[in-house]
Amino acid sequence: MEKLNLFSVAQKQLDQCAKILNLDSNTHEILRVPMREIHVSLPVRMDDGSIKVFRGFRVQYNDARGPTKGGIRFHPEETIDTVRALAAWMTWKCALLDLPLGGAKGGVICNPKQMSQGELERLSRLYIDRIWQFIGPEKDIPAPDVYTNPQTMAWMMDEYSKIVGKNQFGVITGKPLGIGGSAGRDDATARGGLYTVREAAKECGIDLRKATVAIQGYGNAGYNAASLCKTLFGSEIVAISDSKGGIFSKKGLDPEAVLEHKAKTGSVINFPDTRPISNEALLELDVDILIPAALENVITDLNAPKIKAKIVAELANGPTTPEADDILYKNGVHVIPDFLCNAGGVTVSYFEMVQNFYMYYWEEKEVHERLDKKMTIAYHSVLDASKEYSINMRQAAYVVAVKRVVEAMKLRGWV
Ligand code: GLU
Repeated sequence: MEKLNLFSVAQKQLDQCAKILNLDSNTHEILRVPMREIHVSLPVRMDDGSIKVFRGFRVQYNDARGPTKGGIRFHPEETIDTVRALAAWMTWKCALLDLPLGGAKGGVICNPKQMSQGELERLSRLYIDRIWQFIGPEKDIPAPDVYTNPQTMAWMMDEYSKIVGKNQFGVITGKPLGIGGSAGRDDATARGGLYTVREAAKECGIDLRKATVAIQGYGNAGYNAASLCKTLFGSEIVAISDSKGGIFSKKGLDPEAVLEHKAKTGSVINFPDTRPISNEALLELDVDILIPAALENVITDLNAPKIKAKIVAELANGPTTPEADDILYKNGVHVIPDFLCNAGGVTVSYFEMVQNFYMYYWEEKEVHERLDKKMTIAYHSVLDASKEYSINMRQAAYVVAVKRVVEAMKLRGWV
């Protein structure tokens, strides 16, 4: 199958929203493209003495509501169009959560699994050397994403602080706790998503204590989702996968033991007392809740008719294509769309920025309460819009978010 262009998907979703809102064509045109793109080459000295030139991007999509915000992905298959799509979704995500921020995304084409810590540090610092003029606590604030982590953020914050000659903790979020990170940032994406699952379960009449869950992807979001599904709800995790394959157990899986196994062997596969399951088959399991927590475009028109889950909670960015959306909606599957479901990460990132500006740090409980409030309000604003306009949950999320961005653009006199 030809690989779907993620930016075309994002534009198509926006076009649908423009129709629903009867958006004027000038505003629509502005919203279809990023306001700024930075392309850099990054010659990194490798451990063997050679120099390898990596390519990196930072796309700043729209800053009508505030400085742009969004993660940085390190991925071998990164493309500029993927970063554009993700930057657009960050714009809608921040608006939907009513954060005073616009949207951006960064990406570097590299394979961190094959690089040493030293090589990764040099790459991370060089990326900042190349884009530092265009970022800052009041301009654009990066964060972690696929294959970047608090250590990556620490190097990047340090590099930026060195260049500008002062400590600038607020330039980046998702930092380690000892250098301006926020309590509760680590599991924020999964936790925020589960607050929306809790609300969705009420809407769909599902008892979460008896619910079964399948999770695709076992990185930060996938692992924390598994662990929190058990501790917050008491649900049973029956299937888990990663890029190498999946495992299934009717009796249920222990998320901590699976994590340990993955740390030891490099994958969840071959976990004792389970049967193997492919990533494709996992998506089609007869479970109450399906959580795609890996990469984009995994639910398409080909497999959407076979999805049996009652709720699809999209912790990944862009897992479902527009064609698949139509099918799931017709089949009565309740989709919690990505830029609602996974907004917990950027929401706690925003709390982190606030704490950095204040130089006063909150306790974890306070972060959880504030996150719960934000996610619950956002979920219900989307649900209400979906009922009001008779549209699916993704279109409803677009309606709420795009309206807010357009209002800011109008107030600023851009349109
Ligand atoms: N990378 C995360 C996302 O896609 C978090 C972004 C952030 O914290 O700025 O939402």
